[in-house]
Amino acid sequence: MDKHEWEKGDELIFSDRSTPEARRLAERYGYLPYIVERYLELLGGEAEELLEANEEPMSETIRCNDFKISCGELEARLGEAGFEIERVPFLPHGYIITKAPISPGATHEYLKGYYYLQDPGSMLVVYIMRPRPSATILDMAAAPGGKSTQILQLTRDSALLIAVEPKRDRVRALRSNLQRMGFSNYIIIKSDARNLKLNVKVDQVLLDAPSSGEGIIRKDKRRKTKTALSDLKRIHYLQLELLNKALDAVGSGGSVTYAACSTAVEEGEYVVHKVLQDRDYVATERPAGFPLSEAFEEYRGVKFDDRVKGCGRLFPHRQGTEGFFICNMRRLG
Ligand code: SAM
Repeated sequence: MDKHEWEKGDELIFSDRSTPEARRLAERYGYLPYIVERYLELLGGEAEELLEANEEPMSETIRCNDFKISCGELEARLGEAGFEIERVPFLPHGYIITKAPISPGATHEYLKGYYYLQDPGSMLVVYIMRPRPSATILDMAAAPGGKSTQILQLTRDSALLIAVEPKRDRVRALRSNLQRMGFSNYIIIKSDARNLKLNVKVDQVLLDAPSSGEGIIRKDKRRKTKTALSDLKRIHYLQLELLNKALDAVGSGGSVTYAACSTAVEEGEYVVHKVLQDRDYVATERPAGFPLSEAFEEYRGVKFDDRVKGCGRLFPHRQGTEGFFICNMRRLG
């Protein structure tokens, strides 16, 4: 796809349109009309199910940190403290809190690093990434550290984690979470990941990209109106730069996991589509065994690269999680 085609694609994909039906639903549920228009175009009759699901509050979920405590012991301790928790079938360390006598962020067990408060989709990203023991892993947008701590947990603190975050207060939260949860094999770099200069290739990259957060409307209703279409375009281009950087950071055989907490194709399929145009040596790998929906194959007449089919999605109305786009890529050369 040459530049001219990109411009044509952008014109279609970022055009501000809304039908009377989109405007009616946008008014009813309190969204910017362009957001609902996209749901209608992509999901048809299912769009209203998504809007309804976004009205449902999300239960709090935790990830048991079995680097510090066995999950059985954590279950017992939380039970004694009056919590009721249930395992989430597709998340090996995930529990839903069904009853909480106090805030789950204020318990002794939390302060000791026995668990992390983390939404299910966010946890799923790192299981899908499959961080390898002893690998050098770059987490390009790391704070506050949900996925960084999960990477070190799954590798038993044996991966060398390079965690990048540009914002000072968020670096503080990242450091505090890594320390609280008992990990030591990490370096934190305070930087815009686009400006990173690494002299070596890494084995794996996680890009949990800065996004509109359209996927967490269930938790933050402001996301219904926060992102103007012009902002979405700016975020799309930021993700594009970051994903290009991620693919340049790994050597042959290395993997890049790109995730965005969003239901928007502009923060998912369309980014992967553009990035793959000049990269015939990159494959996408659809993970088996996870409850992912198919990625979108085309939008507004722009047919995405075939490899986009290897990516997947989570939706509040289908999986009951946040909205997420998740794509595992591998450099073959
Ligand atoms: N991965 C984190 C976790 O699981 O806890 C959440 C990451 S959040 C979705 C995106 C993060 O990217 C934010 O902390 C934001 O400050 C950071 N960010 C924004 N612009 C960035 C950039 N240019 N380079 C690296 N990180 C950036």
